[in-house]
Amino acid sequence: MEKATIRDIDVAGKKVLVRVDYNVPMENGAITDDTRIRATIPTLRHLLANGAAVILASHLGRPKGAPVPEFSLAPAAKRLAELLGQEVAFASDCVGPVPEAMARDLKPGQVLLLENLRFHKEEEKNGPDFARSLAALADVLVNDAFGVSHRAHASVEGVTRYLPAVAGLLMEKEIDFLSRAVTSPAHPYVAIIGGAKVSDKIGVISNLLTKVDTLIIGGGMANTFIAAQGYATGKSLVEEDKLELAKSLLADAKARGVRLLLPGDVVVADRFAADAAAKVVSIDAIPEGWMALDIGPASSQTFAQALADAKLIVWNGPMGVFEMDAFAQGTEAVAKAVAASAATSIVGGGDSVAAIEKMGVQSKISHISTGGGASLEFLEGKVLPGIAAIRDK
Ligand code: ADP
Ligand code: MG
Repeated sequence: MEKATIRDIDVAGKKVLVRVDYNVPMENGAITDDTRIRATIPTLRHLLANGAAVILASHLGRPKGAPVPEFSLAPAAKRLAELLGQEVAFASDCVGPVPEAMARDLKPGQVLLLENLRFHKEEEKNGPDFARSLAALADVLVNDAFGVSHRAHASVEGVTRYLPAVAGLLMEKEIDFLSRAVTSPAHPYVAIIGGAKVSDKIGVISNLLTKVDTLIIGGGMANTFIAAQGYATGKSLVEEDKLELAKSLLADAKARGVRLLLPGDVVVADRFAADAAAKVVSIDAIPEGWMALDIGPASSQTFAQALADAKLIVWNGPMGVFEMDAFAQGTEAVAKAVAASAATSIVGGGDSVAAIEKMGVQSKISHISTGGGASLEFLEGKVLPGIAAIRDK
């Protein structure tokens, strides 16, 4: 079922509450990366051009349900005003008399940003009174915050009991790309899963095994699969309690005829440090006391080859400790292979997206998801409460 978007409704003269994700990195009250604010501009321009009065709501950081000055969204209002080239009013709270009066007086074409939703514990608890107070500010909800839509929070789920909800343009793009991977993937479909731990990504791996032609596993989690095959892994990150699971996933891949690629060589280090002694070894020769922190060059080449003729690529999780240059080669090689491929490419996960940016290949990726956990849950085939709450077309 296709979801209704801001293009499907008439917003002229309406008060439109837009749930955005302005959870931007800040240092000493200054925004250090405004990507998330920029990303919402197309949705906001569409609404403003069509005569809506726009009320924006977001969370920032983890203030744990009480006002914390360092998590104020006031700097985001300032930045948004610069990006839009127009005034952005700021309400010192997201519910109650202050935003109510400001929302009431807001004219078509004007913008109001509400203070951090998570200054109220009812946001994450999905409190009905809080949701109703938010809903009272507007006529319709636009959800453009994919990254929190796997949570049934008041501003993405509760509020839709009182207001009709449609998708913003960012949300539309997320649903469009991610559902291609879930419902009608092009083949060959190659998924690359990496990152720290198997336990974070069991659900997605199981689900991908029912859909992909090739599954590439790298990063810290590959060590658990390497150990499951009986190799010594030294001091590598291995989840002992997931060895049986790794074995069953390997068996499942085999039974389904999925080609599962694990690293055949790794870069090992004598300690977890950027300046550690490091060398490339085959997975059957990981020295005692050393740890695998990256995939080796032969693995990089094998993985890149497997990506070359893909029609659809999904990538979540770096191939190594890419934050340290000595262990970034595997992630870099995969990033370049994904970028060079003619496939539709989808990258999700906070660290994977950071890696893509570090390698400077963002523009060569079809879709960079704005939601780590949300994109994983979507790829697992789960119904995301915030998306389920958006009305169907
Ligand atoms: P994402 O945010 O893209 O979903 P994860 O959070 O699952 O990715 O994993 C990213 C982290 O995994 C990075 O901080 C990286 O340093 C770490 N990592 C990758 N490979 C290894 C490894 N071999 N050993 C330890 N940590 C690793
Ligand atoms: Mg991460």
